[in-house]
Amino acid sequence: MPNTDKIKSKPYRNWVRGALGLFHLQKGLYPFTDRIVKAEHARIVQHLPPCTYCAIENILPAHATSGKGCIQKNKGKCNCRKRTNRNCPTCSKIYDDIVQQHRFKEPHWVTDCSTWYNDHWQFAKCFLTTTTKRSNNTAADTDASGLLSIIINGEFFQSELHYSIDPYNGTDIFSQVREIRNEILHNSEQDLMDQDLTRYLQSMIAVLEDKKVLRIDPAAQAAAKKLKELLKDELIITMSEEANVIQTALEAIKAAKEQSEKSIRVLTEEIRFFTETDIALYFKNRRCKGTGSGKGDICSVRSETGSK
Ligand SMILES: [Zn+2]
Ligand SMILES: [Zn+2]
Repeated sequence: MPNTDKIKSKPYRNWVRGALGLFHLQKGLYPFTDRIVKAEHARIVQHLPPCTYCAIENILPAHATSGKGCIQKNKGKCNCRKRTNRNCPTCSKIYDDIVQQHRFKEPHWVTDCSTWYNDHWQFAKCFLTTTTKRSNNTAADTDASGLLSIIINGEFFQSELHYSIDPYNGTDIFSQVREIRNEILHNSEQDLMDQDLTRYLQSMIAVLEDKKVLRIDPAAQAAAKKLKELLKDELIITMSEEANVIQTALEAIKAAKEQSEKSIRVLTEEIRFFTETDIALYFKNRRCKGTGSGKGDICSVRSETGSK
């Protein structure tokens, strides 16, 4: 809980100002993000028949029958291998459009695709990087980090931006601000130096003042104005706002922890797979040596393992 004296400490107040900046950034970005996603979604579904009953795990992507191979970066996560899945005239096509529009060809398939045809935000969720416990079911309900991920990962956003998105080098302002969000919310000390806060808030303002569309977007400009007040420390910070940013930081730290645990689980599974493969190879090796007849088998197992 906040206490009245703590906010007087400069580094802590700076941290609260930075976290509040993220709130205003979200408010400034979500109408724009929503509008661009809606237009892209309308373009994709305009000639498709309605569908309301597909489930993501049961769709056969359109590219599965194209004969040109998988278009997703991680083929192991693509539905095109599931040949008994349903070829839907709507969802199979949307599935491929999502992959093609994804900057890394690696969509986040945590989505309710029974509403893909009607709900542009379920389409948008495929461009998120991670899913938090929050529902993220509307643009207004998606935090700044989620909105930035959708803008960075959805290649259809580039034509609406003056800045070039370059997440490979992380040099563009949108990727930098997504990183800044983590630096603020994962900061367990809850303090920020003056120069860091200034850089963070100026970067958020730069995003909201992107020269193409955001610069003339009313919500983006209202948020940029609030951020400039925060920069000058002219904004009065209420106790409920302070409590809110602490709660948000807590949720962000928990989400990061869950994500790390998930990564550890995946890696542990992979290590287990390789260990089991090694054990199988060891016994096969011994068995073949014992019989004196399996030299070819040992070599074939080795070459299979080596090719993974
Ligand atoms: Zn595929
Ligand atoms: Zn369908």
